Amino acid sequence: MTSAFKDVKNFISGKFSKNGHETIPVICPLNGEKISSVPLSGKRDLDEAVDSASKAYGSWSNIPVKERVQVFYRYKTILEKNLKELAELTHIENGKTMEEATAEIEKSIELTEFACSIPQLIPGEVLEVSAGVECRIEHKPLGVVASIAPFNFPHMVPHWTIPNAIALGNCMILKPSEQVPISSNRIAEMLKEAGLPDGVFNVVNGDRKIVEEICDHPGIRAVSFVGSTKIAKIVYIRATSNLKRCLALGGAKNHLIVLPDAHPEMTASNVAASMSGCAGQRCMAASAMVGVGNVDDIINKICEEAGKIIPGKNLGSVISKAAKERIEGYITDAEKQGAKVLIDGRNAVVKGMENGFYVGPTVIDFVKPDMAIAKEEVFGPVISIIRANDLDEAIQIENSSEYGNAASVFTQSGGAARYVMEKASAGMIGVNIGVPVPREPFSFGGWNESKFGVCDITGKSSIEFWTQQKKTTTKWNPEARKNWMS
Ligand code: NAD
Repeated sequence: MTSAFKDVKNFISGKFSKNGHETIPVICPLNGEKISSVPLSGKRDLDEAVDSASKAYGSWSNIPVKERVQVFYRYKTILEKNLKELAELTHIENGKTMEEATAEIEKSIELTEFACSIPQLIPGEVLEVSAGVECRIEHKPLGVVASIAPFNFPHMVPHWTIPNAIALGNCMILKPSEQVPISSNRIAEMLKEAGLPDGVFNVVNGDRKIVEEICDHPGIRAVSFVGSTKIAKIVYIRATSNLKRCLALGGAKNHLIVLPDAHPEMTASNVAASMSGCAGQRCMAASAMVGVGNVDDIINKICEEAGKIIPGKNLGSVISKAAKERIEGYITDAEKQGAKVLIDGRNAVVKGMENGFYVGPTVIDFVKPDMAIAKEEVFGPVISIIRANDLDEAIQIENSSEYGNAASVFTQSGGAARYVMEKASAGMIGVNIGVPVPREPFSFGGWNESKFGVCDITGKSSIEFWTQQKKTTTKWNPEARKNWMS
């Protein structure tokens, strides 16, 4: 069913670069077939991209912001017009369902819409600080910046950074995930079609090596990273040791605390959707459910809901054979250690797609907090149920996680919900919500080992990350001098 795509290329100075690199195959996870190839770029390619972005920066940053965002108004219309094609591409290169892929592109559109509103959000400040003396503050861009993306949202995660950073006057180099690099070539084409000047947006493909070059490159002022915690730490340390501004988002282990008074149907459908959406490959996915007291009826309903989730129908594939083996390994180890697999997604096969990488929805009960499946990021459609005697024990289990992206509580009690909102150690909290993503204009970002650096990556907080403040003090009238402060 998969169509082959053109070979992925770097995009520098408004043009796709010629081949001549070592390449690796791009595999469609739905059926295991090769659909394209991606170049592994080196220092020379990055030098070229930084040079192109530096040249473009002078004129791009000088255009008034109200004019710069006109590109994104046009770009938003182009995304809307091509929604179906872009969703199909995301579905094929990432393996998520068409419905999820469509939602992903819709989210990219919302992120672009936010960037269009930036002129309304960044007026500076001015105050007469002493007689005849004014101070003003303006948000100025940083220069050439880089954005490094993961595999799980090939279209949306690049849009966490591209529209805001560029609308704010920066020029950008995007390094997509080498597992899903095709969407970024379409993003480049569409930004050009929207009228973005050559060099303002560039794509340099590759793997670890090019990420290291980005962290070391003296021409890059800021680096944003989204990916696993292990690599987020490496990138954050390397980029900041080279005196760059860095924001590095890492992995997650999100807890849902379920109380006996939770609405059974709503809770069951939310838990099942949260753990299985995008085959569990979301940094906001529910991964551990902490059941407080007797929640057996709700667990039965979660199993009923999980039973309606069918690989190849309303459940996509995971990204690779290695990911499938890792996820299934966690399930097997937990079972060996005494956990009870209520719904088993191992060895899932989709008829006609036998070489695809599928894991069915999996519900495991009686998981102990010290098991690997309870502590580590599984990144698959698996929910581990940990039993707690009371709310304080549940909070203690949530708080002991190294991560801190999201946490949710399911209850009808305002007091209990308030308690979890206060005590959970996570940046994004849900009350009766399985995937508590803050939508624009609110910002996205976790705590603890889920994020390194200040600011969040989207919404208003990202404006601080992509700009620096210029403070200007002015005096025009000599007679204004009253004291040493003027
Ligand atoms: P990853 O860390 O393996 O890769 C992310 C990027 O880093 C890719 O572009 C990759 O090429 C590069 N990279 C890989 N190894 C590297 C190395 N050794 N040195 C330098 N760069 C390297 O992540 P992934 O598997 O693509 O994505 C899944 C992870 O991303 C999960 O952990 C998920 O939780 C996380 N994620 C987090 C958020 C968030 O908002 N916190 C959002 C999406 C995904």
